[in-house]
Amino acid sequence: MLGKFKNKNIPLVWALIGALVSSVALGYAYFLLDSKFMNSRQESALAIAELSLERDNLTKRILGLEEENRYLIEALYSEQGKNRLFEEQINEIANTVGLLDKIRRTDPELLQKYSKVYFLNEHYVPSELGAVNSGFIYEQGRPMLIHARVNPFLEQMLREAVSDGMNLKILSAFRSFDDQEFLKSNYKTIYGSGANQFSADQGYSEHQLGTAVDFTTVERGATFDRFEETNEYRWLLRNAHRFGFVLSYPENNSYYQFEPWHWRFVGVRLATKLFNEGKFFYDLDQREINEYLAYIFDQS
Ligand SMILES: [Zn+2]
Repeated sequence: MLGKFKNKNIPLVWALIGALVSSVALGYAYFLLDSKFMNSRQESALAIAELSLERDNLTKRILGLEEENRYLIEALYSEQGKNRLFEEQINEIANTVGLLDKIRRTDPELLQKYSKVYFLNEHYVPSELGAVNSGFIYEQGRPMLIHARVNPFLEQMLREAVSDGMNLKILSAFRSFDDQEFLKSNYKTIYGSGANQFSADQGYSEHQLGTAVDFTTVERGATFDRFEETNEYRWLLRNAHRFGFVLSYPENNSYYQFEPWHWRFVGVRLATKLFNEGKFFYDLDQREINEYLAYIFDQS
């Protein structure tokens, strides 16, 4: 029976064995594959974990660097701010030093208000005098002096007046104390005690300073008669401030008689301020005037 069975079923047995062996082999292969797969999954998971750790570290470093960067930028800004402040302070100091130096080098008498009780010392002489361009002098051949630093302003003003068709001439500029004495005694001879009212005390100081000019026109000549009616006077009223000149004794002023011909240099800045505000030099406080001393020879 067994033998029969044996003989008959040998191929089947082999087939079964074969199937068994192959399923075992397959199972083993599957096991191998699976464990390999598992391993590689584990490895991947590990690698991913490592990578994410690394990423986290990198993120932290980036955040750290950004923080550091922000800090550096802030520090830079703060340094720049300090530098700017420092620079501003230096400029301010330089400006102050420059201003002080300008004030120190500028004769304070140039912007002094003079009156019947306060006038220039008889020994005063301007620091520098220059000859007035002879083309602008009324009496040809009579040399005339003016403060050397006022001269360019005067010349520029007269050139512009000429180009506007004005016939403005200079009758008098710098006058020394002795010149003035002579003039005054002459006036006294002619006009008696009224001479004080006419020529002298107040306007005199301004001529001795070398910064005042008496104008006339060819038509008006050597007299000051009705100069206020000329186009030249009106031109001066509109334009003289641009060249730093002001009318010292305007009409209806309370400190001296009206002298339309007498103009004093006070600098473009102060003259322009007075012009814009409709004020006159002698209306201002001496203290307010003194603030303009440093700028007296500036072009604007
Ligand atoms: Zn005068």
